[in-house]
Amino acid sequence: MAGSDAMQQLTILGATGSIGVSTLDVVGRHPDRFGVYALSGNSRIAELAEQCRRFKPSFAVVADAHAAAQLRERLNSWNIRTEVLWGVEGLCQVSSAKAVDVVMAAIVGAAGLLPTLAAARAGKKVLLANKESLVMAGQLFMDTVQKSGAMLLPIDSEHNAIFQCLPKGYDPSEQCGVRKVLLTASGGPFRSIPLNELATVTPDQACAHPNWQMGRKISVDSATMMNKGLELIEACWLFGLSPNEIDVVIHPQSVIHSMVEYVDGSVLAQLGNPDMRTPIAHALAWPERIESGVASLDIIATARLDFGEPDLKRFPCLGLAIQAAKEGGSAPAVLNAANEIAVEGFLQGQLSFINIARIVADTLEKHEVAELDSLEHVQQLDTEAREVALKLIRSTR
Ligand code: NAD
Ligand code: MG
Repeated sequence: MAGSDAMQQLTILGATGSIGVSTLDVVGRHPDRFGVYALSGNSRIAELAEQCRRFKPSFAVVADAHAAAQLRERLNSWNIRTEVLWGVEGLCQVSSAKAVDVVMAAIVGAAGLLPTLAAARAGKKVLLANKESLVMAGQLFMDTVQKSGAMLLPIDSEHNAIFQCLPKGYDPSEQCGVRKVLLTASGGPFRSIPLNELATVTPDQACAHPNWQMGRKISVDSATMMNKGLELIEACWLFGLSPNEIDVVIHPQSVIHSMVEYVDGSVLAQLGNPDMRTPIAHALAWPERIESGVASLDIIATARLDFGEPDLKRFPCLGLAIQAAKEGGSAPAVLNAANEIAVEGFLQGQLSFINIARIVADTLEKHEVAELDSLEHVQQLDTEAREVALKLIRSTR
């Protein structure tokens, strides 16, 4: 179990990404509370080197031996004694090391699964941004958390909001009066453009989110609303809910980050500026509260909060994800793998925006849903679904 010293030692998986940078921004405001044990990055070696210069972690982890040599050279020239590791083994080592109390899981996609699971297995306080690991292996992940006594805190703004609106010590197996969860969604950059224009939107347009600054994969997921579907699956696992207990609500201002409705008719919401440093600071300090650097919400300037129902014709990916959530078993893992391949294809210019949903639907169609019995099974399904999706992309060109 993680140590209980006042100073918390932190590993940040995916430190060079959008969530990683925001995490270091919060951590940098509280040098008395948090020490940085390890940082990881994939391709941005120069940025990772700068982060090491500033935060002096014991370890840094990169993708491969070549990147490790590059980073070592830079750090040596600055006389910085961070030890450089590489590969999945390096990631798992720094997420499970004895000296670590808290692991921020902010790698994007399936690549985050093994190191996040390693942190859970080691009983760490796991701050979960990498929703894909729960979508792929929810049961396995939650069983691991249960067994090890790890603490799982959601970073996704919606799930962090739901967590804040649920009763303290919430246990899904106990009667606590929750009727349903209202999962809010901005609707992304294409919420109201004419449907016939969707076929020709570009990756840059898809990544220009109206309210949030995020990595490119999650930005495209927000534009297709697959992100909300993945979040619905994530919420089912985190809070022990069935898909029927979650309503997706379009709320373009992204000021309410989600809501919980109780049987007496009370609806609790968490509000704030759309800035990930709020959920990050909340989870880092929980159950205390710390400064995050986020500006005060100007509720007068906000003036109005709008709500609407999601249009599944415009956002077929959301429908596919809800269906996969209801089917359960292997369906979400296959959905996730096909989506990662399709989004990458779109970002590389090999696939049009509207064909993302097509690839995911066709991959699911070819799959027979089964129970997931092991990590190896999840990985095998993930590999197979990626191959199917890749073939489908090639055949649409
Ligand atoms: P990003 O693309 O900005 O950063 C991804 C990070 O993962 C980078 O540090 C990158 O180096 C690392 N990475 C990428 N591929 C890797 C690989 N194969 N092996 C090891 N490391 C790899 O993404 P992001 O926006 O920070 O999102 C990270 C995760 O957080 C995603 O799962 C996303 O869904 C989730 N999330 C992000 C936001 C947000 O506001 N950005 C909000 C909620 C949830
Ligand atoms: Mg979210």
